[in-house]
Amino acid sequence: MRLARPLENLIDQLLKLPTIGPKTAQRLALYILKMPLEEVRQLSQILLDAREKVFPCSVCGYLTDIDPCHICCDPDRDRSSLCIVEEASDIIALERTGYKGKYFVLNRSFKLMDDNDLGEMNLVPLLKILGEGEVNEVILALNPNIDGEITSRYLASVVGKQKIRVTRLAHGLPVGGDIEFADEITLRRAMEGRKEL
Ligand SMILES: [Zn+2]
Repeated sequence: MRLARPLENLIDQLLKLPTIGPKTAQRLALYILKMPLEEVRQLSQILLDAREKVFPCSVCGYLTDIDPCHICCDPDRDRSSLCIVEEASDIIALERTGYKGKYFVLNRSFKLMDDNDLGEMNLVPLLKILGEGEVNEVILALNPNIDGEITSRYLASVVGKQKIRVTRLAHGLPVGGDIEFADEITLRRAMEGRKEL
C-alpha cells in the first residue's frame, strides 16, 4: 500500500527515535495528523526550542539553558561534595535521592571504552573544579559494569593524588535477585559494602 509522501516522511522520521518501532511510528504519525493544526505548530516549535536552547553546562555538564546551570549557581548546594556521573541523565535520577552536592558529567565528549584510551579523557574541567580547593569528597557514581569499574579506578587514582577523599556508591544486590545469578562485580561490591547488622 502506497502512503502519501508527507505521511511516509513523518513515519520515517519517527522511526529514527529510540524505542519507536514501525507500528508505534505509524500510530504516532496518524495521531499527529488528527491533532489541531495549532497544536502541531506548537509541538514543532517546542522541539526546535529544546534542540536550540538546551546545552551542557560549561562547568558541570548538566543540560541547561543558562550557563553555568542552576545547580552550579545554587548557593545552597554543598560545594565540598562532587558527584561524578557518566551522563547528564544520571543527574536527574540522583536529584531524586535528595543529594545536595555538586556534579560533574564525564561523557560530554568521552565515550567510555569505545575508541578512547582512559588517558585521553578530558579531565581538565574536572581538575579545574578540584583545583579551586573547595571539594573534599568526590563521589564516583558510574554505572556498575566493567566500563564503569575501570573508569572509577582510573578516576580514583587521579583524584586521590589531590588528597581528596574518594567514595563510590554502594552497589548492592537487586532486591528480589538471587545471589547465584548475580554477576561477579555486583556480588563483590555487595561483599565490600556489607554493613553490621
Ligand atoms: Zn552546572
